[in-house]
Amino acid sequence: MSDSLSRPSGPAVVCHDCHLRLARPGADRGHWYCPRCGARLGSQHRLRAQAVIALAATALVLWLPAISLPLVYVDQFGAAGSVTVLSSAAALFGDRYGLVAAVVLGTLVVMPAAQMTALLVAMARLHAGGRPRRWLWWYRQGREWAMPEIFLLGALIATTELGENTSLRLGTGLFFLLGLVVARWVAEGLADPAVLDRILEQRDAEAGDAARL
Ligand SMILES: [Zn+2]
Repeated sequence: MSDSLSRPSGPAVVCHDCHLRLARPGADRGHWYCPRCGARLGSQHRLRAQAVIALAATALVLWLPAISLPLVYVDQFGAAGSVTVLSSAAALFGDRYGLVAAVVLGTLVVMPAAQMTALLVAMARLHAGGRPRRWLWWYRQGREWAMPEIFLLGALIATTELGENTSLRLGTGLFFLLGLVVARWVAEGLADPAVLDRILEQRDAEAGDAARL
């Protein structure tokens, strides 16, 4: 008899990080956490899919100018030059730091665009009633690996490390990059993986019900 009381009342929740199966807590509000890995699992917030789509599209439009336009103009001993995201990666390749250059290209150039594309497609499919698990998986990887904000930090550090006879001007690319970073931050804030998981679970349950009818 006591067994029926301890049995989960609703459908099980599967942790998106360690895949531990858990009973859904009785209270359906707020957040709860995976006891094994500590990942946040529950959230009562609603997903604002159209806002996320708009932000992901904005980030994608800003991506190309952000990586190709000059972040800063450097003027040293009368010789002027500019630094872009792509030129710094190319310089690393040229200096035989091939691995570093590959990491820079992956985390700062490719991943932000891949992540925003995955988010855009996933949100559009969720909005249309689909269950885009694979696209959401890519979006999650991007949360871990995409870090375009590093270049903002780099530009900031560059301004403090200027020697004499060197002047530095901010380039338009920096503002595109700033816009990209902000759009991505807000999109990630709205597209909380815990909320996305809950929507997928709900869709799975609905699909299961439909199949039984
Ligand atoms: Zn877990």
